[in-house]
Amino acid sequence: MIWHTSGEQQVLKQLQTTPQGLSAAEVERRRAESGTNELKAGKKKTVFGIFLSQFTDFMIWVLIAAAIVSAFASKELVDSLIIGVVVLLNAVLGTLQESKAEAALEALQKMAAPVCRVRRNGEVLKLPAAELVPGDIVLIEAGDAIPADLRLLESNSIKIEESALTGESVPVDKLVGTLETADCALGDRINMAYMGTGVSYGRGEGVVVETGMNTEMGKIATQLATTKKEITPLQKQLNNISNTLSIGVLCIAAVIFGINLLMGNELLNAFMTAVSLAVAAIPEGMVAVVTIVLAMGMSRMAKRGAIIRRLPAVETLGSTQIICSDKTGTLTQNKMTVVRTETADATLLAQVMLHCNDAVTNDSGQLLGDPTETALLDYLLKENTITLPDIRNRKRAGEIPFDSGRKLSTVAITHNDGLRILTKGAPDVLLARCTLNDNERIAAEKLNEAMAAEALRVLAFGYKDVPETDFATVEKQAESQLTYIGLVGMIDPARPEARDAIAVCHSAGIIPVMITGDHKTTAVAIANDLNILGDGRRAITGVDLDALPDDWDVENIGVYARVAPEHKSRIVAAFQKRGKIVAMTGDGVNDAPALKASDIGVGMGITGTDVSKGASDMVLTDDNFATIVSAVREGRRIFDNIHKTVRFLLSSNAGEVLVILAATLLGWMSADTHFLLPIHLLWINLVTDTFPALALGVEPEEDGIMERKPRDSRLPFFDGATWLRVVMVGAVGAALTLSAYLLGGKGPVGTTMAFMTLSLCQLFAAVGLQSERNSIFKMKLRDHKMLILAFIGSAALQVGVALLKPLRNMFHLTALPWKHWLGVLGLCVVMLLFIEFQKLLARRRED
Ligand code: ATP
Repeated sequence: MIWHTSGEQQVLKQLQTTPQGLSAAEVERRRAESGTNELKAGKKKTVFGIFLSQFTDFMIWVLIAAAIVSAFASKELVDSLIIGVVVLLNAVLGTLQESKAEAALEALQKMAAPVCRVRRNGEVLKLPAAELVPGDIVLIEAGDAIPADLRLLESNSIKIEESALTGESVPVDKLVGTLETADCALGDRINMAYMGTGVSYGRGEGVVVETGMNTEMGKIATQLATTKKEITPLQKQLNNISNTLSIGVLCIAAVIFGINLLMGNELLNAFMTAVSLAVAAIPEGMVAVVTIVLAMGMSRMAKRGAIIRRLPAVETLGSTQIICSDKTGTLTQNKMTVVRTETADATLLAQVMLHCNDAVTNDSGQLLGDPTETALLDYLLKENTITLPDIRNRKRAGEIPFDSGRKLSTVAITHNDGLRILTKGAPDVLLARCTLNDNERIAAEKLNEAMAAEALRVLAFGYKDVPETDFATVEKQAESQLTYIGLVGMIDPARPEARDAIAVCHSAGIIPVMITGDHKTTAVAIANDLNILGDGRRAITGVDLDALPDDWDVENIGVYARVAPEHKSRIVAAFQKRGKIVAMTGDGVNDAPALKASDIGVGMGITGTDVSKGASDMVLTDDNFATIVSAVREGRRIFDNIHKTVRFLLSSNAGEVLVILAATLLGWMSADTHFLLPIHLLWINLVTDTFPALALGVEPEEDGIMERKPRDSRLPFFDGATWLRVVMVGAVGAALTLSAYLLGGKGPVGTTMAFMTLSLCQLFAAVGLQSERNSIFKMKLRDHKMLILAFIGSAALQVGVALLKPLRNMFHLTALPWKHWLGVLGLCVVMLLFIEFQKLLARRRED
């Protein structure tokens, strides 16, 4: 069947459905036949696949090869076995981490799944788009994403943006009717709507003709499935650091190998040492740990109502400097109540309020729809001007829907053999379209101004009667030459939590900006209530903005009133030109460009359209400004934790490299001196790289996290001073390990002490690095459960090797008398004190 060349009735017949929709039983039957309406994403990695990918590292294979050769050469199997076990354990841990990250990302994708409105058995339901089957009747309106391929049955000026499919970004007018040519291009099939495109205007209905992989989008989905995973700027930076360091470590390992050979050490032993060091010190796990920390951060944000759609947003949030927010619903409660009406003709006013209104009632008499419009009906019902049946029995002869650019909405009803046109909208726009004399106009404007100053959202009402009966013939002039009826004012109280969140913004160096379609006076009244203005920051209107040059004083404007969605893009551009990181909220179709252009596009989970959500980096489940601020807070915490984790990992690796380098130069690495064995290095890598690093990744936020300025995203991840601190901690760890060997008398006792010291020092360092600047004496133990757990667990693994006889023998260690244990402990405390000293210096420098 070719859908676009068939008539509506023919299509319905073919699909065995009616405009009332399918029955539940029929839906079940069809689902069994056609499957769910989903595009099959690229092949999911299996756990086993993830496990195998742990072995893609070249150095691991060199190590395994060396272990096998050494087993044959020395006829000593134990060492090689231990190497095998440690490599395997490492891979298992890596697999666990990675699958956890994958699972978290997948769960989030599910949360962002699109919904649609379907008519089944005559009843309109909201359902996940995945549940659609062919024959379902779908209702669409401006802002919706098209959930499946539809043949349109009704179109009220529908325009659809089909760039995802056709590349054409100008919305296409859609009509109902039968096309002539069967093989016309997708973009010319104007009676069809395709999955993955978005409605930019109008409303209508369509019948589902294809679902899932059978849709036009499904046919090109193989291309989509192979799109690469996005990698965040931070991950990119860390990849670079990791690559550079890997090369550095390999070079040092080669030098160590050379020196050991020159000193007459056995070839195989020298080689094993070099390779083990390389495997242990190359920070290959660093990027993986960072991904997990980001993914876990994402789930935490989701629990607090901020769903991240793109991973890079997690870290960008941390450096947000500007939050531009819509007023209605985000800064205010979006609970409108009519508190004032000003009119000379209450009956006419009530007629417009009732008919020029898209809100509806359900069976239990509840009002559903846009809060501005439900408020009008609610008022009429409470005043007993209308009853519920009046709402249900409304009939319209034509309409021009509201859009935030025009700021008007119009409905026509039949009246005395002609039409009555009923219009409501923003007073400044509507008054200009009314036939008022100068005195009347000035009076109305004054009244509007006075109501707006009381923080009221004001709507103006007008009407006119025309003799024509077909709305299409008068549509073009419908909103002009109107008779003015009056004004209605409603309150929409500020969200109390928004006030607190704005105070946090001020202390955190984040500039809050209010953007609204509402009147300037109303906007300023609410902005003052929320404390957004002040510090000489001003309010301007969209018209004022049009008159300003591109380099206007954007940082001194706190409120933009009466803006059209296009203005948002201009505001974003102005901030970005000054190098600022901007978050921007949006809910309408026309907000999509600004959402895409901003650094963090923030969509609205409740009131947002699919199109705006699709363009966002983050979606708020509660539409609440305070949620943006708590996401920023979380973003800062995550960045801090990644910083700590990487600092810890690199400090540990530096320690390992430096100690082996020094021992080599001292001539301690020969087979008979036994300073540290290859298996020791690998074991330390296993014990310290994983648990403490992950624990640092979930550390609680630092004190005063929202009292410092946003991080400058242009700065490198590590500055010179941080690199120096990393090397210093590594050097101290190395020195302490060498001392331990000396204290133990350079024999097996020395080796055991050195092994314990190198590893345990790293664990103590993790505890010290838990804060970038605060002393551990300020650390509240109960806030750091994971770190303590990691510390105890890792320490138990490490000490266990020395305490349990079979393990001790395997690792070529000897039992330590308690005095020597005390010595090890003392050396570890020195490490902790050193880090505390570094923090003390850092605090001094900041103050
Ligand atoms: P924000 O941009 O903060 O969400 P807003 O909700 O006031 O603010 P819009 O929804 O674009 O922005 O509304 C702009 C103006 O249009 C309002 O101030 C009001 O005067 C008018 N308006 C809003 N809703 C309607 C409607 N349903 N019908 C007619 N006019 C409306």
